[in-house]
Amino acid sequence: MSSLCSAWASTLLTTTVTRQARLFSGTKRQPLQRLRGGAIRTKSSLAVTAADDQRLKKGIAEFYDESSGIWENIWGEHMHHGFYDPDAVVQISDHRSAQIRVLEQALLFASVPEDTSKKPRSIVDVGCGIGGSSRYLSRKYGAECYGITLSPVQAERAQSLAAAQGLANKVSFQVADALNQPFPDGKFDLVWSMESGEHMPDKLKFVSELARVAAPGATIIIVTWCHRDLSPTEESLHPEEKRLLDKICDGFYLPAWCSTADYIKLLESLSLKDIKAADWSENVAPFWPAVIRSALTWDGLTSLLQSGWKTIRGALVMPLMIEGFQKGVIKFSIITCKKPE
Ligand code: SAH
Repeated sequence: MSSLCSAWASTLLTTTVTRQARLFSGTKRQPLQRLRGGAIRTKSSLAVTAADDQRLKKGIAEFYDESSGIWENIWGEHMHHGFYDPDAVVQISDHRSAQIRVLEQALLFASVPEDTSKKPRSIVDVGCGIGGSSRYLSRKYGAECYGITLSPVQAERAQSLAAAQGLANKVSFQVADALNQPFPDGKFDLVWSMESGEHMPDKLKFVSELARVAAPGATIIIVTWCHRDLSPTEESLHPEEKRLLDKICDGFYLPAWCSTADYIKLLESLSLKDIKAADWSENVAPFWPAVIRSALTWDGLTSLLQSGWKTIRGALVMPLMIEGFQKGVIKFSIITCKKPE
């Protein structure tokens, strides 16, 4: 099994994907040529993509610098989907509890221990936004939590919310790259990535870093956007599916998407254990319609217009997320595993 996995991983690493996509950055709409398929790169493609990765990182940082305040004003401290009962009739007031429910469902799915001797004591929140998960998890487990984000505005806001909530000595935030984490090997017993994996241009490096900073026996939780799994006879998504995802990439500063099955194979290739995944797409379905409704209120529209072009462009692709889920191209996935003892 593991040799099959390593064979798969090496294929993954030695296949060149030269499909290019345009990402418009900045108000001048200058085309940024970026290799899609960053999860699948060769050594020779690394040199080509290093500059593109820098531009992507800069775009992500600026996008969140610009848009986090408006998101917080309308939606609060969690910058991720909510978890709803399928087909539930949802009120605006339900959304914050639905966002907390995602956290709880993820912890439950990964069987994170709650008893005093085994609960997590040291947590990393990879792609922490303004620190909603970090503070929640720190409070729940009495744990230390370290959040990293590319956005200086988010890191600063996360820290001041922590101080305001009396958690300044428990949680800390910094600007750092998930693909090169500023932490020693084996530091954390819970490694948490809530809706940040979709931004990572190199999925193998991403999961390798999650595994590196995990302590023996630690739980790793990845909640992320994926594209649908390919059937055994397919080599790629259909052209119209790719076009849809490309537009979303441009609005939200995302590199290539991968499938849940791709993540599982990557985790297997790193010899992680108890690998589990689930598709929560139906449970998050009410989320984007609600975000769009809130953007269309007077407050939403005026804040959006004052926010800046990157935020507006992000808002314009929100309906495409609904389309992607409805067409089954986009999957909202949870993937969890443990680092062997
Ligand atoms: N997990 C948070 C925020 C999700 S938004 C929440 O649920 O509220 C995505 C986050 O991923 C942003 O904070 C963004 O800065 C971060 N991110 C994206 N790429 C990153 C990278 N390479 N390194 C660190 N953080 C990254």
